[in-house]
Amino acid sequence: MTIQSPATTVGVVGGGQLGRMLGEAGSPLGVELLVSDPTPECPASLVARDQVEGAFDDEETIRELGERADYLTFEIELADPDVLEAVEEETGTPVHPKPETLELIQDKLVQKRRLQAAGIPVPAFEAVDSAAELRAVLDELDYPAMLKAREGGYDGRGTVAVESPDDIEESFAAIEGPAMVEEFVDYDRELAVMGCQGDGETDTFPVTETIHREEILRETISPARTDEQTRKRARGVAEDILEVMSGRGVYGIELFERADGEILLNEIAPRPHNSGHWTIEGCHTSQFEQHLRAVTGRPLGATERRDPTALSNLLGDVEKRQDAVLSGVNAALRNDALSLHWYGKREVYNLRKMGHITTVDDDPEDALSQVRAVRDGLTFR
Ligand code: ADP
Repeated sequence: MTIQSPATTVGVVGGGQLGRMLGEAGSPLGVELLVSDPTPECPASLVARDQVEGAFDDEETIRELGERADYLTFEIELADPDVLEAVEEETGTPVHPKPETLELIQDKLVQKRRLQAAGIPVPAFEAVDSAAELRAVLDELDYPAMLKAREGGYDGRGTVAVESPDDIEESFAAIEGPAMVEEFVDYDRELAVMGCQGDGETDTFPVTETIHREEILRETISPARTDEQTRKRARGVAEDILEVMSGRGVYGIELFERADGEILLNEIAPRPHNSGHWTIEGCHTSQFEQHLRAVTGRPLGATERRDPTALSNLLGDVEKRQDAVLSGVNAALRNDALSLHWYGKREVYNLRKMGHITTVDDDPEDALSQVRAVRDGLTFR
């Protein structure tokens, strides 16, 4: 492996905040990005050599990425695995993770079936294609339960809790299209592990705890506030999951920790993930650097945690779509323990992910209370 200029180029399908943080991590490594995104001046465009404007599944756009880049990857699951496979074949530019892995993960039902077959612990689930089927399944599985769109859901969109038989029709109508239903997991905490697959080596980052409200990730805290045994088990499950994934890169693995200590898989993202943003300040190697090292076949970096770290997303807190202006920033910038990450989105709407803040502290609880205090002083209103 050599480093040279001009740098190794990674073509990335998607140019949102994940692409932006990939670009920030790439430059010291001698890796630069070429991103594709339908939105002109997307968040990653500022840190990329160039942006190709086009839909995530547009063949011509992805072919241009393939022709101009040394490696291809994606930061959004809306990339099209068939298009990626065709472009890989045509241009010879390797795609990581493999398009077949993306295809497996895109459909939550297929994903769960495959992982269950591989012996990974998952919540009880069933496919449901109609309200009548949902009713029949829940006679067995019982209430409450989680109904999920098989494809296209994110940040809680495409996920509905079904509390009682009276909710059946409305819940099914809200999902639109093929769905799966899952037992409602009575968890103590949600955990996440970033797994990484390099060239002949794998590794996992330390376990983080994720705090969701209304199915949207709000905060993370690392180390997770659970015992060492459970953290070990969670990393073990992540290692087993990596064996099912093909292709290099980082994988965001979302888990439930049940009251009895059992770890269950919620879902996998074949890319850097919000639950791993804390690694930028918290670990020797960030998930973004790790992803680029992996995709380009460089050796993986050390995943050890440097310090306890807490993170809060900066979500839109406005009623209607408007220009994005964040106020209260000076207090955040004056805090010595805090790092601010702004994603560069022009407009804010309610609950849109606009940025995040991270604090490091010897004590994880202190890190969390500090990050919360600063976040509460920031607003788009
Ligand atoms: P998305 O793809 O929108 O992130 P997820 O399937 O990860 O959807 O669900 C989002 C959140 O909903 C989870 O982080 C968790 O808080 C809650 N959730 C999902 N599935 C279950 C379940 N089976 N039991 C309890 N809570 C769940």
